[in-house]
Amino acid sequence: MILTNTLNMEVISLDDERLINPELVDINEERMENSLRPKTLAEYIGQDKVKENMKVYIEAAKKRGEALDHVLLYGPPGLGKTTLASIISNEMNSNIKITSGPAISKPGDLAALLTNLSEFDILFIDEIHRLNKSVEEILYPALEDYTLDIIIGKGPSARSIRLDLPKFTLIGATTKAGSLATPLRDRFGIVHRLELYNTEDLTTIVKRSANILEINIDNESAIEIARRARGTPRIANRLLKRVRDYAAVLGNGNITLNITKIALNKLEIDDLGLDEIDRKILETLIIKYRGRPVGIETIATTLGEEVDTIEDVYEPYLIQIGFISRTVRGRIALPAAYEHMGFPYEEA
Ligand code: ADP
Repeated sequence: MILTNTLNMEVISLDDERLINPELVDINEERMENSLRPKTLAEYIGQDKVKENMKVYIEAAKKRGEALDHVLLYGPPGLGKTTLASIISNEMNSNIKITSGPAISKPGDLAALLTNLSEFDILFIDEIHRLNKSVEEILYPALEDYTLDIIIGKGPSARSIRLDLPKFTLIGATTKAGSLATPLRDRFGIVHRLELYNTEDLTTIVKRSANILEINIDNESAIEIARRARGTPRIANRLLKRVRDYAAVLGNGNITLNITKIALNKLEIDDLGLDEIDRKILETLIIKYRGRPVGIETIATTLGEEVDTIEDVYEPYLIQIGFISRTVRGRIALPAAYEHMGFPYEEA
């Protein structure tokens, strides 16, 4: 979408498609995220159960002078898994190395990472469900006994040697805990699922970010952005930035409720934070398949999207607000979705 000012000049070029995708989209966004990341557990908003538990585990590990147990964090993108990992390293007074499953393509890559760690360091592997099998196998003894078996040489003269590794903590993050191999999942002593945030916590996050970015925003506008952010801090921060752009062009830079509503409507984000793809998903279920259960592959094909995108980006929120349900025979739209989309509910 292009926004024009009174002189009819293009001032902001907006790529709407990315707006509600909770995955990280570009390097500029990554920069902004780093500036907004809370540094301590006390600053980390919401997720109270996870915070309380982590606080105890961290204190206990510090008292014992041991490395923290390995931690698995799972839940949709943009909920604060990376943030929590860096907070844990901060609270443990240790260093963190950040990488991702697809970036570690061969066992040697992982061996290099592991042998470069120091005692109590944190290794954060994002998208850990995407590690390949041969890499995963190196990881098992490393997690369990802090050892690394490597093979030196080739053919008949090849021999295996065992290296001791420093006592480190692996923090794995995944959007798909179900795709993790059981032996890998079993090696995490601490497993936490991050939940979508409620409006109150997201409002606090919006206000905190506005404060850091020196944006003037009133209470109602912060609530409005929070309400439409699909339970996801990354989306809330992104919407805040977009609304700020509109405030700069349409007003004096201060964010008011009126400007917030205009901006979000122009971005085609509805009252509940749904966008065009959400609406297409609901229309597919309600109109095209007339309320019958529809397989995820069929939904993805109808929309020309990846199955993973539908499952990780769209579904969690639609399920959370009670719009769709997963049944053994496929996805169905629930009465609230019919009402929101303006169709009478009929059971299939
Ligand atoms: P994930 O790793 O789950 O995809 P991130 O940790 O990168 O998500 O979080 C995305 C953004 O949301 C970060 O910039 C961070 O500032 C913000 N954020 C996430 N969780 C919180 C929180 N609990 N409190 C405040 N800000 C948060």
